[in-house]
Amino acid sequence: MTNEDYSFQTRLLHNSHKIDPATGAVSVPIQHASTYHQADIDQFGKYDYSRSLNPTREALEDVIAELEGGVKGFAFASGMAAISTAFLLLSAGDHVVITEDVYGGTFRMVTEVLTRLGIEHTFVDMTNLEEVRQAVRPNTKAFYVETPSNPLLKVTDIRAVSELAKETGALTFVDNTFLTPALQRPLELGADIVLHSATKFLAGHSDVVAGLAVVKDEALAARLGFLQNSFGAVLGVQDAWLVLRGLKTLHVRLLQSQQSAVKIAHFLDAHPLVRNVYYPGLGHHPQHALQKLEAQGPGAVLSFELEDEEALRTFVSHVKIPVFAVSLGAVESILSYPAKMSHAAMPPEDRRKRGISDSLLRLSVGLENPDDLIADFEQAFSYTKAGTTVK
Ligand SMILES: *Cc1c(COP(=O)(O)O)cnc(C)c1O
Repeated sequence: MTNEDYSFQTRLLHNSHKIDPATGAVSVPIQHASTYHQADIDQFGKYDYSRSLNPTREALEDVIAELEGGVKGFAFASGMAAISTAFLLLSAGDHVVITEDVYGGTFRMVTEVLTRLGIEHTFVDMTNLEEVRQAVRPNTKAFYVETPSNPLLKVTDIRAVSELAKETGALTFVDNTFLTPALQRPLELGADIVLHSATKFLAGHSDVVAGLAVVKDEALAARLGFLQNSFGAVLGVQDAWLVLRGLKTLHVRLLQSQQSAVKIAHFLDAHPLVRNVYYPGLGHHPQHALQKLEAQGPGAVLSFELEDEEALRTFVSHVKIPVFAVSLGAVESILSYPAKMSHAAMPPEDRRKRGISDSLLRLSVGLENPDDLIADFEQAFSYTKAGTTVK
């Protein structure tokens, strides 16, 4: 049996870095050295300088590549560093077709930085393949997918977009932060590069900022490796170790949180003060069937809309269990307000166009007992006068 024959759950623990070959240690050693003595004047060893390669960071890069089914992984100082470095694969004059309800930081990178470098973009509703097709130009070099999307949890057909990208001669980038390889493996569906904010579910404890990228083939690995070393936004070794530790419990954390998210989504969906619930695990979600086809589960993030901003303010001021914060994918539940947090970088008219209203909340379900969360939400709702919302 090779490691690939084991289930994902087992491979989180039983992988190429389970045991340190030098000592037998069952945790990857943290190698702080920035430089490495070379025994030969003509031939350097595998490691020479830690920006280029460091054994601790390399362990994380190997493990994420194994988990995503790619040839090589790369660890960066943040999710945005991973995403921005991947965008450097493009050159002036190139064009990107990108999902319209993309992470706010990615929106900022594309609209305010790439434009200055002469890289063009078109925002599309990635769930509408006809619209995606029509956005293609002769200079289209990349399709940028984030699925499920943030914060409206729209689901993109990764297989179909990757096929279109191949016909176009373009690369497909997929931000897999929300589902992780535990639930969705974009490379198997045809994507070329998987990107992660490892700050979220992969590390999972709201105690580290990190980014990862995984590529499907060796040629792309060489190009991205060159950019990682040139741009230099690499992940530090302590942080690499924290992500490696978090990864070991990814499967149990995500499955438990997902199970709770399903329960909470149904509770919210039936609640008279909730206008809309956006969660691919609900039968009425427009891409519920597609989500089942391309992912192993709907994940643990959902969004819901209240009647108006006042109802939202009342709810948020009375809710006790979730932290009210940016970010997601942690052991504690996190309630966030996209209009003022993750999507604050997006102009209000763009937000409105995308359906990110001022009464929308996003919930990342953690590991608390879901019944406690539901009771907490119920008491917070009780401060809003019943009857102000008609469903
Ligand atoms: C948080 C996040 C990012 C950015 O990652 P950082 O680690 O904060 O730089 C990118 N994409 C998605 C979907 C995210 O949630």
